[in-house]
Amino acid sequence: MTIVGQDLSVVLESWHEKARCKGWDPEIFYPDRGVPSASAKAVCRECPVQPDCLDYAISRDERFGIWGGLSERERRKMYRERQRSSIRARAHFA
Ligand code: SF4
Repeated sequence: MTIVGQDLSVVLESWHEKARCKGWDPEIFYPDRGVPSASAKAVCRECPVQPDCLDYAISRDERFGIWGGLSERERRKMYRERQRSSIRARAHFA
C-alpha cells in the first residue's frame, strides 16, 4: 500500500521505531471495559510520536485500545470534530 507515493511500511517504521511504548506490555494499552487507562495514557503523554500515532489510529478507524493517548471513544469524538471543522472550512471558502 502506498500513501502519497510512500510505501506504508516505510511510513509505519518511521514513527513506530520511536514509539515510547515499544517494549512495554501491550496489555496496558488494551484495558478491559471499565478498567482505567491512566497507565497507558501516561506513557503516551511522554511519547515523541504521539501525533503520528493518533493520526494513524484515526485514519485506520482503530476500534480498540489506547492510541496516541486517546481511547476509542475519545478518538471517535476527535474524528467527528475534525469532520465538522472541515465541513465548516469548506462552506466558508465555497
Ligand atoms: S502515543 Fe502511545 S500508543 Fe502511540 S506510539 Fe506513543 S506510546 Fe505508543
